[in-house]
Amino acid sequence: MGPEYTQNEQPAAVCDRCGGEIYPEELVHLIDGFIICAECFEDYAYEYFESCMIAAEELTEKRYTYDDD
Ligand SMILES: [Zn+2]
Repeated sequence: MGPEYTQNEQPAAVCDRCGGEIYPEELVHLIDGFIICAECFEDYAYEYFESCMIAAEELTEKRYTYDDD
């Protein structure tokens, strides 16, 4: 029951998505103030840019034309 010493360095932050510890030497994404670890980034980006997603067939149908407002 002695004091537990860990050789690990202190986490610099935790991921806002998975809650995982992030260490100072790791790279993270800071997106809209949220800390997103590398493991979560792909899923997060997918959700983040969901509004940009369209079926590729729409590209051929619409020919991706500009709309002048
Ligand atoms: Zn994460």
